[in-house]
Amino acid sequence: MKDCELMALAEAARARSHSPYSNFRVGAALLTKSGKIYTGCNIENAAFSVTVCAERVALFKAVSEGESEFSAIAIVGGRTGETAPFCSPCGVCRQALAEFCPKDLKILLGNPEKFQAYTLEELLPYSFTEENL
Ligand SMILES: [Zn+2]
Repeated sequence: MKDCELMALAEAARARSHSPYSNFRVGAALLTKSGKIYTGCNIENAAFSVTVCAERVALFKAVSEGESEFSAIAIVGGRTGETAPFCSPCGVCRQALAEFCPKDLKILLGNPEKFQAYTLEELLPYSFTEENL
């Protein structure tokens, strides 16, 4: 799968965001090593702490379906009605990804027309993993 195609799937997932409080819509598309894709969107709640980010929705969907090997995630986010310029994953999502994904996981940020690739290690250096326990 091309990076731009994964970004397009994240953009499509963004359309399903439930974000009436922040009006900040995020979509994610997670690619497994076997080529399957799991998407997610941010899902807010009137009780704010219940809110879940798009990246973790995608990740937990995949893990709950038995997936454990991932190669890339695309993330598209921005204010409702605006083209997403660049949306970086929050620290909680970076840590969640570190639990299941390799340090060289490709993380695509931007929008389908213009995006940049990073690795998980670049966005979360010195991560806390099972090796620290
Ligand atoms: Zn997050």
